Amino acid sequence: STFQELDMPAPLKSTLARQGLTTPSAIQAATLPNSLVGRDVLGRSQTGSGKTLAFGLALLARLEGRTAQPHRPLALVLAPTRELAQQVADSLAPYARSLKLNLTTVVGGMPISRQARALRQGVELVVATPGRLRDLVERGDCALDQVDVAVLDEADQMTDMGFMPQVTAILQQVPSGGQRMLFSATLDRNVDTLVRRFLNDPVVHSV
Ligand code: AMP
Repeated sequence: STFQELDMPAPLKSTLARQGLTTPSAIQAATLPNSLVGRDVLGRSQTGSGKTLAFGLALLARLEGRTAQPHRPLALVLAPTRELAQQVADSLAPYARSLKLNLTTVVGGMPISRQARALRQGVELVVATPGRLRDLVERGDCALDQVDVAVLDEADQMTDMGFMPQVTAILQQVPSGGQRMLFSATLDRNVDTLVRRFLNDPVVHSV
């Protein structure tokens, strides 16, 4: 099958073509038909599997035509490290741009004031590390009450790094009823806790 056969916004398909991508990877083929209709996803997969577009295309398709209010993002991707968050943001940027959706990265080690300003202007998608996002929520610069899609990327690494309390606190503020996706190379006890608390009847893909 090809990306063109999937039911997703035309601008996303044009961007895929422009990036030279024609055939979905295994995890994309297994999850996109379900995630594009709003199902939750549990992906057992590593970097290099194409997981970023597996969740990114579904997430962006769901945001098509929507506009975030100041301080109130509509979608959230949590990643364990600054580098990974930046990589996810860079990978999704051309796809977000094609739908005129704004994306910002919220990570430690960078000025918080600039991130707060971006949030105030209204961004549909925030790609974040858990600690910095918590800080922005506590400062009142970011509210999670409009988040309709939430993704945990490399969930095992996030819990291994001690982010379980922050991740849990963040997810407790995300309204239920939205779409959630979780990707992890392993399913240890902490990740399993997140899966059970956070995902609703997910489509499961293991490599
Ligand atoms: P990821 O696992 O998301 O970090 O992606 C790893 C690499 O695979 C990235 O450089 C992507 O551009 C590339 N990639 C993602 N999906 C596909 C695909 N369907 N066909 C070819 N390359 C892809």
